Amino acid sequence: MSVNSRIPGFYKLSPADRFKAVVELTGLPESELASLTQPAPDMLSIADRMIENVVGTLSIPVGVAANFTVNGRDYLIPMATEEPSVVAAASNMASVARINGGFFTSADQPIMISQIQLVGKKDPYGARLKLYERRDDILALANEQDPLLVKLGGGARDIDVRIVEAGAGRIYVVLHLIVDVRDAMGANAVNTMAEALAPLVAEIADARVRLRILSNKADRRMARVRATYDAAALGGPDVVDGIIDAYAFAAADPYRAATHNKGIMNGITAVVLATGNDTRAVEAGCHSHAAAGGRYTSLSHYEKDAAGNLVGTMEVPMPVGLVGGATKTHPVAQAAVKLLGVTGAQELAQVIVSVGLAQNTGALRALAAEGIQKGHMSLHARNIAVMAGAQGEEIEAVVAKLRSGGHVRMDRAHAILDEIRQGA
Ligand code: NAD
Repeated sequence: MSVNSRIPGFYKLSPADRFKAVVELTGLPESELASLTQPAPDMLSIADRMIENVVGTLSIPVGVAANFTVNGRDYLIPMATEEPSVVAAASNMASVARINGGFFTSADQPIMISQIQLVGKKDPYGARLKLYERRDDILALANEQDPLLVKLGGGARDIDVRIVEAGAGRIYVVLHLIVDVRDAMGANAVNTMAEALAPLVAEIADARVRLRILSNKADRRMARVRATYDAAALGGPDVVDGIIDAYAFAAADPYRAATHNKGIMNGITAVVLATGNDTRAVEAGCHSHAAAGGRYTSLSHYEKDAAGNLVGTMEVPMPVGLVGGATKTHPVAQAAVKLLGVTGAQELAQVIVSVGLAQNTGALRALAAEGIQKGHMSLHARNIAVMAGAQGEEIEAVVAKLRSGGHVRMDRAHAILDEIRQGA
C-alpha cells in the first residue's frame, strides 16, 4: 500500500469526511477500516475474552496524524489519545521534517530478554560458569517450547548470566535468556520459555529458582530516528536555539526531563495504544532507558547542523508486535494496523519512534516560541464549554467568547452560557 500522507485541510473536515479521505487514500475496502468509526456489535463479548470481570468498554478518540514520511515512505498514522494538541503537533512537525525528507530510522532485531533468578547459592561465580557450559542444552529446551516461533526464524539465541548483589548478603545468579520474538511483542513467548527452563537451570546451578519473567528493559530492541527540521519553517534561528536550550535543560535536569519525556510518550503511547500494543511495557522500557546512565535524562537529543537547521535524534527500546496481545483481538487495533500498512514489528517500531520525536519537537517548538497553552487552548476551551453544559451551536459560541476574553475557565463558561441562553 502506498499513500500520500499530505492531506491539505484534513483538520478542517468532519470526522466522517476525514474517514472517507483516509479510505480513499489507502485504497483499502471501507469494511477493513470500519471499526475505527463504529464499535463492533460484539465488542462487549470481545472485551470479556480479553480481561477479567468485564462490565463495559472505554472509547478513546483515534485521530490520524498526517504528513509523515519514514524512510521515504508515507504513512497515515492512527493515534489513540484523550489529550488535545497531540495529533496536531505530531502532524505539524512531520510537515516540517518532510522538507528534508522526513524521518530516517533503523531498528535492532526484535530481541527480548527473560530473566531466571536463582537464590541461595554459596558459590555464585561457579554456578554462573556451569550455566554457560550448558548453553546449548538451555537454548534447545527453550526452543522446544515455541516451534512456530522457531519456524518463523525466531527463537532463543543466547544466554547471559549475571551476578546481582542485592545487599544484606543476598546474591542472586540471574540467567538472561535472549530471544528473537520476530513480529510478537514477546512477553508471553519468553515467559513460557523461562518457566519451562526453570527445572533445568535449577539442576545445572544446583540452586533454587524464584522469578521467571521477561525484563521490560528491552534494551536489545532499540529503534532509532533522525530528522532535520528546517530552521525557517520552525520559526527562525532563535526558535532553533530555544529548542536546543529546552533540550539541554531536560538533558541536565531530571525534573524537566520527566516532562520532556512525557511529551515524547504522548506520541509513542498514542500509536502503541491504537495498535493494541502494551503501553506500560513500552513506557517501562523507555523510562528505564532514560535512567540507563544512572541518572534520569532526556530520551531525545537536539543539535544544529552547519546550515543552522535543527537535527533531532532519539533511540529508545520499542517492544511492540503485530501478533499476540490485543493487536489481533481488538477490532480497532486491527483496523489501525491496516491503516498504517506496516508489515512487520520492526517497521511498526520505526514509525512509532518517528511520532515520538515529532511530538517532542512540536512541544519544544511551542515552548520555545509561543508557549504551550496557545495550541492547547482551542480544544481545552471546547472541553470546558462542554463541561459547562453547552450543547450544539452553543459550544462554538462559548469557545469564541472564552478565547476572546482570554480566561478559559469553567466559571467564565457558565457565565457565558447563561448570557447566551438569556439572549436567545
Ligand atoms: P502471544 O503469546 O499471544 O503471541 C506470540 C506467539 O505467537 C509466539 O510465541 C508465536 O508462537 C506466535 N506467532 C505467530 N506468528 C508469529 C510471528 N509472525 N512472529 C512472532 N510470533 C508469532 O503474545 P506475546 O507477544 O508473546 O505477548 C504479548 C502479550 O503479553 C501482551 O498482551 C502483553 O500485555 C502481555 N504481557 C506483558 C508482560 C510484561 O510486559 N511485563 C507480562 C506478561 C504478559
